[in-house]
Amino acid sequence: MITHSLPLPAPAPGHQRELLVHQFGDGDHKAYLQAGLHADEWPGLLTLQLLMERLTQLEAEGKVLERIDIVPFANPVGMNQRIFGKTPGRFDFITGQNFNRGMAIDADDLIERVGNRLGADGATNDALVRTELRTMVAEKAGHYEIEALHRALLSQSLDANVMLDLHCDYEALPHLFYGDHQRDIGSRLAHCLGFPVRLEEDVRGVVAFDGTHTQPWVKLAAATHKPFARPCFAATLELRGQNDVNETLARRDCEGILAFLEAEGFVRDSGAKPQTQEGDSVTINVDQVKVITASHSGIAVFHREMGEHLNEGDHYADIVLLDSEGPERIAVTAPASGVLFSRTHQVLTHPGATLGMIASDKQQIKPGKQLSF
Ligand SMILES: [Zn+2]
Repeated sequence: MITHSLPLPAPAPGHQRELLVHQFGDGDHKAYLQAGLHADEWPGLLTLQLLMERLTQLEAEGKVLERIDIVPFANPVGMNQRIFGKTPGRFDFITGQNFNRGMAIDADDLIERVGNRLGADGATNDALVRTELRTMVAEKAGHYEIEALHRALLSQSLDANVMLDLHCDYEALPHLFYGDHQRDIGSRLAHCLGFPVRLEEDVRGVVAFDGTHTQPWVKLAAATHKPFARPCFAATLELRGQNDVNETLARRDCEGILAFLEAEGFVRDSGAKPQTQEGDSVTINVDQVKVITASHSGIAVFHREMGEHLNEGDHYADIVLLDSEGPERIAVTAPASGVLFSRTHQVLTHPGATLGMIASDKQQIKPGKQLSF
């Protein structure tokens, strides 16, 4: 293992921060994993530490076949948002921006730069595109600390063949997001992890960190019809809920990730096995996710459990009003049929707040608009 330190520009005098990048193995192909881009999401931080233990051992045994880079904490800026006993960690205090948005590469610019230089050989095209992507990252603005953070992360990740971004939800079934153009490899990853809920997304619209890695390839392919040998596969892993941080779950996810890395040729003979699936599998496009929103302020009381199938109109929750003249509660019904896979733990609710998410069997929003919720 080789460790690099990546200093971020100090946002104010005396506030220098840095990222760590641990590199295992070497080779023509690179896998990149990070955790904690939303700095209030901690299951992945532990999972990557366990994965590093496994990779250290495998590397000593000569079983790491390609390069695997790990950024064990992707957001030192957010991790320092310690305020009154909480770590908000999801939005940048300076710009208000979600740490997992707003870093997309300008695909039109990329097409202009490399489009007419692509030929008939996929591997040559890959190399050309990756060189240009590295250049475009280096040219990105870094005035605000969040921009510099994104630029530093992408400088390590954007040329990868496999990119896994570890997140979690408030309370949730384990689930993952990947591009709907990469269903085969996405299903393989879900199988290795044993994650029941698979959300396939159209990466041509608004993208997060994962889609930032796949969108350029998708748009290039559509614009040029040229072949690529091994464009980036990227996925966001939602490792259950914020409180699901323990040795057992982290070990399970570590072994699932390692089984996937082995299936993709990054390690051999690791002994890692695909994990048993946690519940019935549900594969939908992410535009089929129905968000259950609150209509009133009050305390939310839930009547249905995670993983349950809800029918439209089912009594999902009550909002117990606090400012009514007498005891009063407002029933919240399921706005669509499907599997309840995510639920808030912030039960002091308000109009518009998300109370849960249903993996439904119908399209709920326009494709490519999923990241507006
Ligand atoms: Zn997140």
